[in-house]
Formats: sequence, C-alpha cells, structure tokens
Amino acid sequence: MRTSISTQKKHRYDRPQALELLSQLPMGELMNLAHRERMQRFPENTVTFVVDTNPNYTNVCVTGCAFCAFYRKATDTDAYLLSPEELAGKIGTAAAKGATTVLLQGGHNPKVGLADWQAYISTIQAACPDIHIHPFSPAEIAFMAEREKCSINEVLQTLWNAGIRTVPGGGAEILTEPVRRIIAPHKASTQQWLDVCEAAHGIGFKTTATMMYGHVEKDEDIVDHLLRLRELQDRTGGFTSFIPWSFKPGKTALAGQVEQTAHPARYVRIIATARLVLDNFEHIQSSWFSESIGAGQLGLLAGADDFGGVLVEEHVHKEAGHDRQATLDNVVTIIRRAGFTPARRDSYYRVLETFDPPMPVGTGNQESPSID
Ligand code: SF4
Repeated sequence: MRTSISTQKKHRYDRPQALELLSQLPMGELMNLAHRERMQRFPENTVTFVVDTNPNYTNVCVTGCAFCAFYRKATDTDAYLLSPEELAGKIGTAAAKGATTVLLQGGHNPKVGLADWQAYISTIQAACPDIHIHPFSPAEIAFMAEREKCSINEVLQTLWNAGIRTVPGGGAEILTEPVRRIIAPHKASTQQWLDVCEAAHGIGFKTTATMMYGHVEKDEDIVDHLLRLRELQDRTGGFTSFIPWSFKPGKTALAGQVEQTAHPARYVRIIATARLVLDNFEHIQSSWFSESIGAGQLGLLAGADDFGGVLVEEHVHKEAGHDRQATLDNVVTIIRRAGFTPARRDSYYRVLETFDPPMPVGTGNQESPSID
C-alpha cells in the first residue's frame, strides 16, 4: 500500500496520518522515522531513568475501575489506609536504598481529605527532606475536589502551597468517553482529566501524561488520546513526558472482555507513533518494568529517550500478577546493551549522573541481567 507519510520533510501529523503510522506503516519504517526524530532531539545518545518508589497511601477505592486489581472495599480484610508516619517510614526506607523521588498515589478513599494529603506531604518533608514528592494523579485531584466541594484550582493551590511542583499523569487510561464508559465509568471523565492538567500547568506544575491500552480500545481511540494531549500541550507546555503501558488482566473484572493481551510489537508501535505525533513532548518513556526488558529496549530504538524508574516499591501492577524487580545496576546494563549511555535523572528530567557508554554489540553476556 502506498503511504502518505513523508520520510523526508518534518511536519505535523494529522489524524489520518497518525492512524496510518499506528496501524499501517511497516514496522521498520516506523521505528526508523521515530528513532531519527529522537536522535535529532537528543543527539548525545543518552537514555535517562529515575530511582523512585511508588507506595500507595490507601488501597480503598469507591471508583471500581474494571481494569484494576489493586483496589479494595473499605470492609475487605486487606483494605488499608496508612498514617502519615507509616507512609513516611516506607519512603525513608526507600530513600536509604537510593530513591530520589516518591510517586505517591492511592485509591479514591472518601475517608481521605485534603487535610490528610497535607499531613502526608508535611510528614514526608520532615522525615525525608531530600526526596522529591510527586503526588496525586489528576483523577485523584478531581475526586478530592468533589469530596471537599471545592474547585480543582483550590486543591491544586493547596498542593502548590505545600511545596509540590510536579504531578503524575496517572488515571488517563484512554481519553475517549466510549472506552472510559466500559473500563472506568465512575472515574474522572476525559474532560475532567484534561481540565486538571490544564489547571495544574496554569499554576506552574509540570505533569506527565500516561496511557493504558490493550483492552477494548481501537486504534482511533489511541490516536484521539495522543491528539488531545498534543492540543493541550500546545496551549500550556506543561507536560514533561508521555508514558504508555499495557493492560494487565490478572484478577481484574475486565479480563473476561479482553481476548488477548497486547503484544510487545504493539507497545513499540505506540512508542514510535507517540514520538512522531507528540511533536511538542520532550520525553517519551519506554519501560522495562511495565512490559518486558526486550520490549523496553526496542522502545528505545523506536523513539523513546527515557527508561522509567528503578522501582523500590510498587503494588498496582503486582496485584494484577505483574511483579518485576531490578536494581540500578540491572537497569544501567539493560540500557547499555540497547546501545545507549545511561543517565540517572530527577523528576524534571535533569541529568544527575551519567554512566559508562554502550557495550559493544555481541559482548557483555556475563553482565546480562536475569530478571526478565
Ligand atoms: S484504578 Fe484507581 S480509581 Fe480505578 S479502581 Fe483502581 S485505585 Fe480506584
């Protein structure tokens, strides 16, 4: 089939072209286009990663998303709500193991108010003054505004006044209403998620943007998701990175509606399409953790420049039967074996430390991590 995609001229991809990238362009061409774009943007050939920890302050949630194996009802025997001291203790342990950032999220628990969030933040700040707190997804913020009967801006301003400067872009899932009605009918809507990000960027926060695919969405939904992010980024410039991951069906209500989990090739196509369509996003993440080491490495050859986190603690994927662990040394080796120079970063994507250059092809078997 004749493609309408130009391999020569730099231009902004429209919706039909974005669909063609995702669905039809031969894989080699797509990866090549995206990698060329990434190398123009980051010619120094580094791949960044962060050492972080993802504790959850509560697993109680009233939203009941069909794709989620993490949440519990308040009456479940394994439901929990951490005190500020318990949470700060976990983060202190992770900081002692090298974590520089805490990505802090939890279920939509009606017992948790804005004052509790402030208490979490101030207790962590007192106990771990050097750790960067990266808290509360747009979906949680929208839920908090409803709970407190205040505006999204008031919630965000409270976080800003508490010293928070970055917000994780979780809860985006797929930003189209037909898909959200099936997978997350009680969660923040597409427009609410975008509104929280726009308000956050207006105050001065930087946020990431995520996408969870591989369930009931169509290619058109993925493209619309990307275009909605691009349109908002044109207005605010507040997104730092785009982070996709695939649906993990284990123990979820949605599992019965999904015949096959997403193949790693789908992941690579999404990374490459995102690099090309999200021309106003600096960073695209390919993750060893959410997919596999091999898929994560291929993503680095298809437009991604960031490898996610060395996670000290994580529960959400683990509850869905997806449990992986790697040390900093493992992640450094994986990046070097993919042909890049690893660089540890902070939550603003500033490089803190650079490691040895890539390993020559065909060497390094003794350094192969055995964690996949
Ligand atoms: S994804 Fe979040 S909002 Fe949805 S059920 Fe799980 S914890 Fe609750």
